[in-house]
Amino acid sequence: MYTSNPLPAFDERRQPDGANSKSAMRADHIGPLDMFKIGVGPSSSHTVGPMIAALEFRNKVESEGLAADDTDLRLEVELFGSLSATGKGHSTDSAVCAGLAGMHPETSPPEEIWAEKDSLSLAPYIEVGEHAIKFQPEKDIFWQGWTIDGKALPHPNTIRFRLWRDNQLLLAQLTVSVGGGFVEQIDPVSGERVSAQRPGEDREVPYPYNSAQEFVLQCQRHNKQPWEIVIANEAALGRSELFLRENLGQILETMESSIKRGLIAEGILPGGLNVRRRAKELHLQLLSGKTPGWAGGDLKPSIYAMSVSEENAAGGRVVTAPTNGSSGIIPAVWRTLKEGHDLSRQMMENGLIVASVVGALVKTHASISGAEVGCQGEVGTSCAMAAAGAVAMLGGSPSQIEQAAEIGIEHHLGMTCDPIKGLVQIPCIERNAMGAVKALNAAALSLASDGTHLVSLDRVLEVMKQTGLEMNQKYKETATGGLALG
Ligand code: SF4
Repeated sequence: MYTSNPLPAFDERRQPDGANSKSAMRADHIGPLDMFKIGVGPSSSHTVGPMIAALEFRNKVESEGLAADDTDLRLEVELFGSLSATGKGHSTDSAVCAGLAGMHPETSPPEEIWAEKDSLSLAPYIEVGEHAIKFQPEKDIFWQGWTIDGKALPHPNTIRFRLWRDNQLLLAQLTVSVGGGFVEQIDPVSGERVSAQRPGEDREVPYPYNSAQEFVLQCQRHNKQPWEIVIANEAALGRSELFLRENLGQILETMESSIKRGLIAEGILPGGLNVRRRAKELHLQLLSGKTPGWAGGDLKPSIYAMSVSEENAAGGRVVTAPTNGSSGIIPAVWRTLKEGHDLSRQMMENGLIVASVVGALVKTHASISGAEVGCQGEVGTSCAMAAAGAVAMLGGSPSQIEQAAEIGIEHHLGMTCDPIKGLVQIPCIERNAMGAVKALNAAALSLASDGTHLVSLDRVLEVMKQTGLEMNQKYKETATGGLALG
């Protein structure tokens, strides 16, 4: 059943992004490989997260030996809140089918991921080990409303999996998808987070910080480059520098290939909105000098951002940065800077590391989920991350990095999330173009100053969180207000 209630029973007192969980994570425990994940479009919270949640449920069914060739076994998936309101446009149901079938957003080919729902419609069985469990997407996925069993949702993006034998419940899993592909398992009774977000999350780190101010102080006190602080912390948490850099290299390659694919693809994006891909055409205009004289090369970052965002909207391979909706900004800024500066691969990795610190601070103190705080949490965060990373790559000081991130977020405060038809196309694609330009400007403004500024990044994050809490629910990825109304 689909319920389009514009006024959800979501508890406004809860803290964004799982902060009401028993053990909300500290920023220094969220690393670059948590913030940047290779996946598929169009959404990290509505596609990647639900797919990972479905895969985790499938793995549990298998590990607990519950799979059986039994016609009385029934698997049921319920999508709640924003996942239900905009899930069709975000292909949430298709992502769930792929996850239940054992696919992972990072490693499975996008074309196989998107074919799985149709396969299941034709042959409604999920193979788990040597067994097959009946699952028919049209009948067994339920589009629910804004309450769960008469209670407020633990998060606007809630999903429940249940395995039944007749009327006997064999296994249940309640998961929230909190943005950027992060998922958390929730205890249905207490509402507390019960899953560890990463191995080693209880360990201590050599350079602890949980605010932008503390991060800058750690760099200054120990006379270390910002990325050195993160590399040392990550090593203490179990990820060596070698491991980190190998994976960041893959992330850079995936970002670069998403730009390349976006610059040659053409046609209409899926979803029925009739949005035409424009990146290729704009790029050709740019190369032939046909863009307006005053725009010239300035359109480059916008075109690069649009090429990735169009790939994302088409369900292609992109990197969460920090989300899929905002996945175009960082690749565009990195490529633009690489073309104009002599940046080594290692320096580009360092830029990602610094950008991830900003993303982690936003995740910890506000939210990177459009369903929780609007687009300020997605495009705003990505802009701030890109600005900070750009300053780091161009040799700025820790204070200048913090200032660039602050400028990047400050000028997105209050930005709503109201995608038309729930598709990550309008306003999302152009919003990435604008975010990339703003990020470069924020970096330039801070590099042109000495890093002294009045409003701190920490203060802006407080404001962002409060603005998100007070934002009308219509403007938080519910398809019930703003541009979504047409
Ligand atoms: S409007 Fe912003 S937050 Fe909402 S789906 Fe688009 S990019 Fe994401």
